[in-house]
Amino acid sequence: MTRRMLLKGVAIGAAAMRVYAADPPFSLPKLPYAYDALEPYIDAQTMQIHHDKHHQAYVDNLNKAIAGDPSLGKMSVEELLQGLDSLPVAVRTQIRNQGGGHFNHTLFWQTLAPAAKSGKPSGELAQALNRTFGDQEKFESQLRAAAGGVFGSGWAWLSLDPTGKLVLDTAPNQDSPLLAKNRPLLGIDVWEHAYYLKYQNRRADYLAAIVKVINWDFVSERYRSLARRA
Ligand code: MN
Repeated sequence: MTRRMLLKGVAIGAAAMRVYAADPPFSLPKLPYAYDALEPYIDAQTMQIHHDKHHQAYVDNLNKAIAGDPSLGKMSVEELLQGLDSLPVAVRTQIRNQGGGHFNHTLFWQTLAPAAKSGKPSGELAQALNRTFGDQEKFESQLRAAAGGVFGSGWAWLSLDPTGKLVLDTAPNQDSPLLAKNRPLLGIDVWEHAYYLKYQNRRADYLAAIVKVINWDFVSERYRSLARRA
């Protein structure tokens, strides 16, 4: 992030290229809480491997994918995904998968919080959820049903569509809602790496647990700021 901002508006000369080579444009964000902060719902070992190994691999592979084209390293991951169709064909699949993995997980960590701080949807988001899904319990059961129904690896997403309406849908692999010009508010990762150590094949048990550790203050605030830009 910092490197990208430093390079913004600066001609990519030889010196900058040396910096670029030593310090790739995308980096793993720090987890905003301890590995064990989501216990007993999400175990520390899963969090450590998921963040340090899986998310790191998406970051590393994204950096590799764009290494041959420094102009791509000056874009944010959001810009890369939203503008995928205008990128060089040769990098599209990797940016979709690895960039999607980087963006999706960066948001995912922020949308989780220790159970004691999980809270409830509030303000405009609470009203919009009630309007769209009936009430918050109905929303949660639809979210769990959608996530439970993903075949293979993927995510369930609550997003704002381009008209500002709430949508609940699913996507395979690391396909980000940004690809469809939706603006994601909350994603539930249902890749087996997100739950297999603790829950093995019991995805429904993982889903019952993860809804206890959603950071509703963050998601409510994200809704407020994104809805303004509809
Ligand atoms: Mn994951």
